[in-house]
Parts: sequence; structure tokens; C-alpha cells
Amino acid sequence: MMRVQTRIGLFGGSFDPAHNGHVMLADAALAELALDVLYLIPAAQSPFKPDDKPVGGGARVKLLRLAFAGRENCKVDERELQRGGISYTIETVRDYAVRHPDAELTCLIGADHVPLLPQWREADELADLVVFAAVPRPGGVRVDFPAPFRGRWLRGVPVDVSASDIRARAREGQPFEHLVPPTVAEAIRNLKLYADQT
Ligand code: ATP
Repeated sequence: MMRVQTRIGLFGGSFDPAHNGHVMLADAALAELALDVLYLIPAAQSPFKPDDKPVGGGARVKLLRLAFAGRENCKVDERELQRGGISYTIETVRDYAVRHPDAELTCLIGADHVPLLPQWREADELADLVVFAAVPRPGGVRVDFPAPFRGRWLRGVPVDVSASDIRARAREGQPFEHLVPPTVAEAIRNLKLYADQT
């Protein structure tokens, strides 16, 4: 019988908090790429947001689990939180490549990151090890993935939401419940997560 290559999705981010845009991107990838499993990987500290102080890893993991509850093939991987420091994708991808040498690894990213890929750490090795996948932002154009990166655009349905918008709304007492799954909204309120953050 022919051996089918395992398809593993890797989705890293601050997830501060997990929101409907993340869920949409994950669902698009699961469906369109026929992933066997998707790992959600919260960063300790994003290299692109050196001045941000995300809420604690424990709270972000909790929200992420709530956002993806019921999706059997979605798993939260805490390796970047455990590693600490700045979370470089290449280090995480290397771990996966060693543990799953025969799998096809796909990294999910937001459309805004696509033109910036050449600036990612160890870009050549990264481009060698993974394929990328993105959904255009609302009204955005599908630029080519910059060489040497390989990537594809997913259809998905763009959702105009960002974590920083949600944090600002929560801080200002504005509604944010429509931007996150209901269980996430409830946990943000109960844990008073973004109430007095800057
Ligand atoms: P912030 O507003 O704090 O910058 P964010 O909403 O972009 O955060 P991250 O956790 O940093 O959230 O995002 C993780 C990944 O998900 C990134 O690759 C980001 O581009 C992508 N992403 C975030 N929001 C959306 C969205 N609405 N649609 C598609 N991709 C998204």
C-alpha cells in the first residue's frame, strides 16, 4: 500500500487573546490542506513585537484551548513558552523536522507576514523545511510568496479582527464578544484579563 505523508500544520502567534481570525485561519487550513493535525504554538515573546508584554502564558494557553475546544485535531504545544526568550519560528520548526522527518510541515501565517518572510531568522533553512499558508486580509491582494519561500493562499473568509483591537476594546469597556468565541469572552471577563492593561 502506498504510504501517505502526514500533514502537520504549525500555527504560531502571541494569541493574546485567541480570536475568531485565528479560528478562521485554522479551519481554512484544516479543510483546504487536509491536515492530519494542527499545532497551536503560543510564543513566549514574538520577535516582531519586542515591546509587547503579553499576558501570562498560562492564561493565553487557557484561552487558546477554549477557542479550539472540540476540534480534535487541534493541539496546543507549549514548547515556546517553556523555552522562554524570543520565540523564533526556525527553532520550533527544527524540532518538528527532527521528530517528524517524513511529514509535510505547513506554517500558517497572517497575510501581513507574507512579504516579510525574508526577514525571518534563518530564512533559507526555514524556506527549505516548511511550506507556508495564509488567508488574505479583508480587501487584501494575494502577492507572490517571496523566493525562496513556498506558500499558497487559502480561500477562507477573511475576518477583520486583531488581538490588539480586542485588548483595546476590553480596556475601554467596549464590546468585544463578537470577535472571539463565547467561551473565550467569558474567560476574559472572569479573569479580568485586559481590563487595565496598556
Ligand atoms: P496583534 O493585534 O496583537 O498584533 P494578532 O491579532 O495579529 O495580534 P497574533 O497572535 O499575533 O494575533 O497572530 C498570530 C497569527 O495569526 C499571525 O500570523 C497573524 O498574522 C495571524 N492573524 C491574526 N489575525 C488574523 C486574521 N484576522 N485573519 C487572518 N490571520 C490572522
